[in-house]
Amino acid sequence: SQRPYIVGNWKMNGSRAMLSEARAVDRAAQRYPDVEIALAPPFPFLGSVREAVTAIGVGGQDCHTAAKGAHTGDVSAAMLADIGADFVILGHSERRRDHGEDDALVRAKAEAALAAGLGVIICVGETLEERDAGTAEAVVSRQIEGSVPAGESAAVAASRLAVAYEPVWAIGTGRVAAVEDVIAMHVAVRVRLAAIFGEEAEKIRILYGGSVNGENAASLLAAPGVGGALVGGASLTADAFLPIVAAAA
Ligand code: 13P
Repeated sequence: SQRPYIVGNWKMNGSRAMLSEARAVDRAAQRYPDVEIALAPPFPFLGSVREAVTAIGVGGQDCHTAAKGAHTGDVSAAMLADIGADFVILGHSERRRDHGEDDALVRAKAEAALAAGLGVIICVGETLEERDAGTAEAVVSRQIEGSVPAGESAAVAASRLAVAYEPVWAIGTGRVAAVEDVIAMHVAVRVRLAAIFGEEAEKIRILYGGSVNGENAASLLAAPGVGGALVGGASLTADAFLPIVAAAA
């Protein structure tokens, strides 16, 4: 089976000083050849992080649907590929919230990113109201159906697409989802992906995100169907991030 995929999403945090954290993660990565490790720094630091590391992947936190043009403030997938980025995170709940991104836009961005040769991590997840209302699986299934680029070949999806299940109420709250709920949701996501891509969907990694840390990572990552973790707060220092990597090894 595939290597577990541990991705640090720095969100809008950090400074050039955090290059030393990226370097520390990169040095330690050699001790964990069985784990695929990546960082997604803010755009201003992306190129520097790319040049500072060799053993880990580097990705953006968003991209535009167009390859270039009159879109002030935006960054294209082609630009990310040009500076050596490996992947891009798309449809994070913070972008859906802060920038009004909907499923159709996320899908168009994913198509652009795959066309540029990048890997794509599509984020989905229900709000607390939706979980309490018992609609979490329906919401996440709808997000998968709307935001996954269904027109891609199953082979491309199997090799370059990942999905991150990040319940909104677990992000940055210290309130991690129960392992049984994570397992159930990952099954639901896998079923939706199989409906789109067929049996190749088995190879699409489904990550969990939301208050993952060095203490809870082992039980989450051992859960069936959990192919890795998308980590926010605990990815900002090597000291916090590396125990999660170790838990995946
Ligand atoms: P936290 O790990 O800070 O809860 O963030 C999770 C997340 O949103 C990663 O994309």
